[in-house]
Amino acid sequence: MDLVVARPEGLYCTAGDFYIDPWKPVERSVITHGHGDHAHTGNEHYLAAAPGEGILRTRLGQDINLQLLEYGEVLQHNGVTLSFHPAGHVLGSAQVRLEYKGEVWVASGDYKVEPDGTCAPFEPVRCHTFITESTFGLPIYRWQPQAEIFEEVNQWWRANAEQGKASVLFAYSFGKAQRLLHGIDASIGPILAHGSVEPLNRVYRDAGVYIPETQYAGDFKKTDPALRNALIIAPPSAGGSTWMRRFGEYSDAFASGWMRLRGTRRRRGVDRGFVLSDHADWPGLLWAIEQTGAERVMVTHGSVEVLVRYLRDIGLDAQGFTTEYGNEEEPQEVAS
Ligand SMILES: [Zn+2]
Ligand SMILES: [Zn+2]
Repeated sequence: MDLVVARPEGLYCTAGDFYIDPWKPVERSVITHGHGDHAHTGNEHYLAAAPGEGILRTRLGQDINLQLLEYGEVLQHNGVTLSFHPAGHVLGSAQVRLEYKGEVWVASGDYKVEPDGTCAPFEPVRCHTFITESTFGLPIYRWQPQAEIFEEVNQWWRANAEQGKASVLFAYSFGKAQRLLHGIDASIGPILAHGSVEPLNRVYRDAGVYIPETQYAGDFKKTDPALRNALIIAPPSAGGSTWMRRFGEYSDAFASGWMRLRGTRRRRGVDRGFVLSDHADWPGLLWAIEQTGAERVMVTHGSVEVLVRYLRDIGLDAQGFTTEYGNEEEPQEVAS
């Protein structure tokens, strides 16, 4: 029998009798990271990588029953050896390594292969079977180095500031927002954060990640001169809301891997799109899969069919896994 199978509640470890990122409440859950489609409330017991503690408690509740392991630390449960390894996706994100009777499986959760300084970089883990995401699993997705994207953001912000306009940058509250704050040139002007972004900034700072000083955007009025060269970081759901009126004249932009698709920017109705993703691009997915040495690959969310077909063509035993992982970067998603 397979060590991990897809069940109606989530990915299930048969020998260990626990779930990985279950989307329905279960007794024992192992959580790869704090994004809403992977970390749900209502589980009796949570196990996660220690660097994600602040995120999980902020998002799921301070009083969840949470057990923590450092990256690489080993736990035995029902004969299964479990450990977490960095996934490079967001603060605390982990791949789950499971070993049972000499058979090794790794469930990646979401991952990104370019290190970004806001979380431990992705570490390939050797295994027999690799469970991979495929959010951007199409050959058209090839990211530019992030330094180039940050330079584009800086230039846009600087140009707006010179014209006396605020710059509103939409980004997902957890992960993308902090990565942008970490990477941009904070000397251009004041930085304001939406109320859904600020608590997560605090968690990152507490974890020792450099996040420049931010002020609460809600404290500012249209007439405030500070807004004329300010950068405002807000979740996409704030776009078009009355919350935006306080910024007077502004330019807006959206940072997401989906900005690779022109149609997405048009639908969003923003002035600029910055192609910045916290997921592996097509070459990144293929590199990561190769690094594991796995002969068998299970593909979860994203472009499952395309990636499965490609992997079979190169001689791997690949198949899709049906899951309910949406994804935090879905263009239609309105939640922050
Ligand atoms: Zn994620
Ligand atoms: Zn995901």
